Amino acid sequence: MTHIKNNFINKIIKHAILKNPNCKIRTRFPPEPNGYLHIGHAKSIYLNFNIATKYNGICHLRFDDTNPKKEHVKYINAIKKDIKWLGFDCYKNPKYTSNYFPQLYQYAIQLIQNNLAYVDELNTQEIKNYRGSLTKKGTNSPFRNRSIKENLILFEKMKNGMFAQGAMCLRAKINMKSPYIILRDPVLYRIIYSEHHQTKNEWCIYPMYDFAHCIVDALEKITHSLCTLEFMDNRQLYIWILKKLNFIQKPPKQYEFSKLNLEYTILSKRKIQKLIDCKLVDGWGDPRLHTISGLRNKGYTKNSIKMFCQKIGVTKQQNMIELSLLESCIRKDLNMTSPRRMAVINPIKIIITNIDKDHLEYLDAPNHPNIKEMGTRKIIFSNEIYIEREDFYEHVIKNYKGLVLGEKVRLKYAYTIQANKILKNANNEISCILCTLDLYKEKKLQQPIKKYNIIHWISTKNSIKAQFQLFDVLFKSKDIDQEKDIIEAYNPNSCIIKIGYVESITDHEHVKHAYQFERIGYFLKINKNNQCNTIFNRIVSLKNKYKTFIKSN
Ligand code: ATP
Ligand code: MG
Repeated sequence: MTHIKNNFINKIIKHAILKNPNCKIRTRFPPEPNGYLHIGHAKSIYLNFNIATKYNGICHLRFDDTNPKKEHVKYINAIKKDIKWLGFDCYKNPKYTSNYFPQLYQYAIQLIQNNLAYVDELNTQEIKNYRGSLTKKGTNSPFRNRSIKENLILFEKMKNGMFAQGAMCLRAKINMKSPYIILRDPVLYRIIYSEHHQTKNEWCIYPMYDFAHCIVDALEKITHSLCTLEFMDNRQLYIWILKKLNFIQKPPKQYEFSKLNLEYTILSKRKIQKLIDCKLVDGWGDPRLHTISGLRNKGYTKNSIKMFCQKIGVTKQQNMIELSLLESCIRKDLNMTSPRRMAVINPIKIIITNIDKDHLEYLDAPNHPNIKEMGTRKIIFSNEIYIEREDFYEHVIKNYKGLVLGEKVRLKYAYTIQANKILKNANNEISCILCTLDLYKEKKLQQPIKKYNIIHWISTKNSIKAQFQLFDVLFKSKDIDQEKDIIEAYNPNSCIIKIGYVESITDHEHVKHAYQFERIGYFLKINKNNQCNTIFNRIVSLKNKYKTFIKSN
């Protein structure tokens, strides 16, 4: 499982071990429990966990729970479930930043005592205005020069709930003129009156991420703190805090890598929450989302997600990964394990006029084209069958793949038929095609396969009605961050439901995972709201289709 490409982080770690062979590698995966995990998080956990495993180290799962306003225990449970499903065992012994609140409070006092932190009374907007910008230096807060004693008293009062939310905060005393804006007296603690999912009402002051993260990394003896590139400048503060608090013996070091961006989707929890609030998706586990639960519900396997993480690698370059790469991973994983079946998702009926109405014939069909051990099954052939509407053409068109009126087509694993006549309903839609079976009398003399197109089909006597959920990308745009309005970019056809037929054998079979319905894709049978209807999710089609998708929209 530890197939890590030789990325730059791997090189850094190899070097660390070379320098100090006794060095025990420790990494951590630190999700904030304010949403569900997505495939970007999978990239991060795959990296952190596999680096630790490869070098005989440890990877902690640490809930970065410093903001009770946005966090919830339901997200903790969902995150643990996803990590367990992905097969990383760090879910068994999770850590919480909130476990360290007492120590963090003491470290804050230590900074105050060393005249390195002060209680400020500016409000959020004022702090922002005083901070300046990349081109304008910041100015000191009028509260910056309080005495150490006064700061200690005020900070204790903050802790004891004697001030309103937002009335005061604790700030590091660094340099309001630093070229790194993050070092212009960053806020370390703020007052929040919300119940915390772990510590309940014990605290009303909460540390900021930048203050807590580096200290907890040091307390947990993390060696390599791997995060994404937007934290590059924060590294200055990470180093400053650890130095000022005297974590000088082998302090943890932060390294940054680029975030995963994936075409046609969004991966930010905040934006996913917006989609949920606007009811554009049905919760965090909607199969159209690239959350871990969404992918799982759609039918993705953990192996396919890991294969994807392995293929994308880890670099410092910002880029956009093609969705087709993720899809090629799930196709590859399902190809070898999925039994083949036939299903018709947009049916049109064919009546074969030159065989008996009660004709019933059992034909052998292989369960897998390349794996003999998967055996064969019997499929029924009779005078009435369904084929896909899209496989029938009244007139010849260029590169047609199916059956044309007046011509012949081969039914997979069965015979050749010729379309002779179409019947239409009152709306002038084709309701039925009358065909004749080719060479029926000499039925063993089948036509050479190559001569005709081959299509899938299903006998009306062998089929059960089924619902097929055909998913498409959630957005019409490759790069959603470039779109002003994500609602505008939403693809209204991102879930199309079809009613068709599937071989009845699928109804009573115990499926290990997915089926490949020949010519249409890989499908997962699901139970929706305990209805007994047969419902299938399309996990992925058989071919990459995104280029045509964009053109046709
Ligand atoms: P989001 O923007 O989705 O809310 P986040 O970074 O705020 O992401 P966290 O819960 O703080 O989410 O993330 C936990 C870890 O996962 C962090 O180390 C973070 O850098 C990493 N991570 C988050 N999104 C991605 C991504 N798209 N690609 C790679 N790593 C990611
Ligand atoms: Mg975050």
